[in-house]
Parts: sequence; structure tokens; C-alpha cells
Amino acid sequence: LGITGSNGKTTVTLLTTHILKACGINAVAAGNVGLPALDAMSLNPEAIVLELSSFQLETTHSLALVGATILNISDDHLDRHKTLAAYSDAKQRIYNHAQSALCWRDQQLTYPLPLMVDVIEFGQQAELHDFGLKNHWITWQGEPLVNLAEVKLVGLHNVLNIQAALGLAMLLGVDARQAAAAVYTFEAVAHRCVPVSDKGGITWIDDSKATNVGATIAALQGLGAERSGKLILIAGGDAKGAAVKALQPYFDQYVDELVTLGRDGKQIGRLKQGSVHTESMQAAVIQAHQFARPGDIVLLSPACASLDMFKNYEHRAHAFIEAIASGDVC
Ligand code: ADP
Repeated sequence: LGITGSNGKTTVTLLTTHILKACGINAVAAGNVGLPALDAMSLNPEAIVLELSSFQLETTHSLALVGATILNISDDHLDRHKTLAAYSDAKQRIYNHAQSALCWRDQQLTYPLPLMVDVIEFGQQAELHDFGLKNHWITWQGEPLVNLAEVKLVGLHNVLNIQAALGLAMLLGVDARQAAAAVYTFEAVAHRCVPVSDKGGITWIDDSKATNVGATIAALQGLGAERSGKLILIAGGDAKGAAVKALQPYFDQYVDELVTLGRDGKQIGRLKQGSVHTESMQAAVIQAHQFARPGDIVLLSPACASLDMFKNYEHRAHAFIEAIASGDVC
């Protein structure tokens, strides 16, 4: 099985592997997620679930997948691919020799061109065919399958991730109900919209892996719509040439206060009146804390890569968590 997309690859790769294992299939996750694909083959598993980046797909010619998905496409890596079309073309290569495709109804770019393979669709509409969403349940062919109230992943974007993972697992012959039961025991992957502290009665959320605009939009939609207090966002870093202006409507709708940092932080800050630019994660956390009251959410979801200030997104997350734990925030 192969998974690509601008966002959600790691989550779907690990969730699909989790479902397969729970259903008795000896599966390993490989590719961009960590274990090199050839090392995975030497383990001789029954199934390999491959996370594939656009960079890896650019040089892939003969990969024949049982099931493949482009989860979504949003502005990312334009510093390398130059245009969204070139980036999307690289991702399309995942379907070249695939038997079946999992595609997102809301985004035509996720469908194979030409439409030669079997297509299974997912999305957030009430649908009688393939995957849908109705009354907080994920549906399969119109029937309720997964109760979202019992799932540990937050945000509407994770509905799509779960649907894609279920669909991929089912392509290997797994029963839909058995696959659905496995979803309930899957824990969110670190640094992807995960609450890390409730210090001061504030919910501090680490979404450091939001390295592009699409991921931050997903976090804002997922958390912003259901918040009871204020939402304070910490964003900024290296935007990799993306059009950050796409964030503006989501800032208007969901963000009460904005704190920025990093190379493109000031550019992002211009999208919201009253935003404050800071020079370090420590300063950003202190500023966010000054804005926050008990019951509020402070979300680190940078919409940018971390490399202008940190070794990687994990390092950035640890700086966030350490700053919360330090005596300046109490
Ligand atoms: P990837 O491996 O593609 O980077 P991850 O699962 O690591 O994807 O998640 C990266 C970021 O994207 C996180 O901030 C996460 O909350 C967000 N995200 C996950 N799934 C989606 C999705 N389907 N659409 C938009 N954003 C998503």
C-alpha cells in the first residue's frame, strides 16, 4: 500500500499498519516514516505500508501498489517543485501501476489521471457509496462504521485520515467491522495536534509537525470550531515559498490572538491585527501565556518548516514543551 499527500501521510501510514496488525496481518510501515523500503522487504512481511513524499515519487518508475492514495494537495515544497502543478504531477506517479486508488471527493487533484484504476472515495458528506460522514459516525456504503466520539484523534481532517486508512486496509481483504474496531485503540502521533500540558488551566497543543499552510488550516478548523475559550496561535518559521495569505480567512474565523516567530513570522503576523512577533520559542510561549486565561487553548501550529531556528520539528516541539514547563509560565 502507498500513501502520499501534503498532509496526513504519517498518520495514515501508521493507522493503516495498526489496523492491519490488529486484524492479524503481519504489516510493517516503511518509507518516509522511518524504515527504508528495502529493509522492510528483507523482513518479509505480508504487507508493506509505504509513506511516500513527492521527492521520493519523482524518481519512482515501477512501484506496483495494491492500493494507493493522494490524501490531499496543498501548497508545500514550492521552493523545490516551483508550481503546484509540478508538485501534483510528482504525487500522481503513485497511481501509475496501482490497482486501486483512495481519493478525496472534495479535491479533484487526488484522483488518478487518467481514471484507469478502481476508485474508492472518501469525504465528510453523508454518502450512500464508499466512505461518508453522518451524525458523528464514519459510514461505509451508508451504514455507520466508526463512532467518532470513541476515537482518540481530534479534528475533522482526521475523519479523512481514518477513512483512507480503513479503505486501504480493506483492499487487503480485512473485514470493515474488524478494521473499525482497531481505529479506537490508535493513539495520535506525537507533534500532530496533541495536547501536551494543562498548565494554568490552559490547553497547550503541540502541532509542530504543521510545516505547511494546509496543516495549520486543518488544525484551526478542527480545534477552532468547537472551542469554548480563546484560541491563541503560535506560528511562523520558514514558509518554503508558500502563499501564507491563504491563512487569513481562518485567522479571521478562529484565531483570537496571534504570536509569531521565525524567518517568515512577520509576514504571517501581517495577516492579523494586534499580532506580536517574538525572537524565540521561549518568548513566544511567554507572550501566548500573557494572552491566555484558564479555559483557553494555546496552539503551536507554525504553518512553516522549522529549519530556520531548530534542528527539526521535534526540536521545535521540545522547545515549546520546555518553555511551558519553565518557571516563566505558571
Ligand atoms: P505528513 O506525514 O504528511 O507530514 P502527518 O500525519 O505527519 O502528515 O501530519 C502533519 C501535519 O498535518 C500535522 O500538523 C497534522 O495535524 C496535519 N494533518 C494530518 N492529517 C491532515 C489532513 N488530512 N489534512 C490536513 N492536515 C492534516
